[in-house]
Amino acid sequence: MDLFEYQARDLFERHGVPVLRSLVATTPDEARAAAERLGSPVVVVKAQVKTGGRGKAGGVKLARSPQEAAEKAEEILGMDIRGHKVEKVMIAEGADIEQEYYFSLLLDRANRNYLAMCSVEGGMDIETLAVERPEALAKVPVDPRTGIDWDTADRIVEEAGFAEDDRRRVARVLGVLGRLFVDQDATLVEVNPLVKTRQGDIIALDGKVTLDDNARFRHPDHSVFDDVDAGDPLEKRAQDKGLNYVKLDGSVGIIGNGAGLVMSTLDVVAAAGADLPGEPKPANFLDIGGGASAQVMANGLEIILSDPQVKSVFVNVFGGITACNEVANGIVAAMHMLGEKAAKPLVVRLDGNAVEIGREILNEFNHPLVTVVDTMDAAARKAAELAATTTEA
Ligand code: GDP
Ligand code: MN
Repeated sequence: MDLFEYQARDLFERHGVPVLRSLVATTPDEARAAAERLGSPVVVVKAQVKTGGRGKAGGVKLARSPQEAAEKAEEILGMDIRGHKVEKVMIAEGADIEQEYYFSLLLDRANRNYLAMCSVEGGMDIETLAVERPEALAKVPVDPRTGIDWDTADRIVEEAGFAEDDRRRVARVLGVLGRLFVDQDATLVEVNPLVKTRQGDIIALDGKVTLDDNARFRHPDHSVFDDVDAGDPLEKRAQDKGLNYVKLDGSVGIIGNGAGLVMSTLDVVAAAGADLPGEPKPANFLDIGGGASAQVMANGLEIILSDPQVKSVFVNVFGGITACNEVANGIVAAMHMLGEKAAKPLVVRLDGNAVEIGREILNEFNHPLVTVVDTMDAAARKAAELAATTTEA
């Protein structure tokens, strides 16, 4: 997950990275009030979009009074920056910049390591710097076991070519950024520019942070960064229920156990629907995992059935440790739990451990909306046909 600049700034502040005071505004009036509260002679109005190059696009502007802050906010709000609409601006105290530096720390997957990049020539687009003046960009591998300790920080500032006088102060900030990276399970922390002010302070003037979604369970507090207006509401609900769900565009709901099985189910359904009217496609990815209890099955079905695009549901389960009879009982229990909410046809294919008992349970259940089909291909075809016919009707 990528953070907005103001969210990155808040994380920086919490960890003790020096930043300037700032407030977020969504209207020109709020921007004026924010500038008044900051009470600084110069403020910077900055577009909050999850893309770089805001400065060049006109999304970063200085204002010398609260009135001017409101005017700049008026110009910036609603602007389109590289396909991102500006819904919020950050009003920050102005900095008296003497020099702009660049720093980033990222997860270097290829080398199974962290990589720090640093330059005394910051501010500009780092891709351009890396191409035009690669020698000005120091690249220092960072051992994940030590992080940016004093030795590593010293090496970074030295290789980046900082003046002797600045090294210690900058190194200290890099150490704090390194701890933030580890503590927050980030995969990227970038500060461009990291500045030295005329007063000699080292300050992070911009921040880009990417958090590792796989480490989300360790950081319940990261939910404050969730973009409430962005993202699919069904995905949000699924996430709250701990389900591995991704919304897609089609009309055939998919539930399976195991990511690999669900992935191939998507392919099989897409192929089965290719020659049918409306070309029905998968409506989602949903992996209910190994020990799929009735509750998990009910949660999954509930999410899928509340997607208005869904016309039919394909439940594709390979019984393993959780045998088919348990899965079948889960489906029956889920249908009871959902009651009238279960109003769309379900095609169930069971195979593997205890498959016979599983099929028998579903046949006995004899629910008018549930069809049991023995093979994956035939079941996919059936589910696609149900979605196609219902689309036609
Ligand atoms: P980006 O273009 O999206 O990376 O946005 P930045 O936050 O990096 O801002 C772009 C540029 O605006 C910086 O490199 C600075 O030169 C300038 N800038 C940002 N904040 C201030 C500030 O407080 N004072 C001054 N004088 N310039 C600023
Ligand atoms: Mn920047």
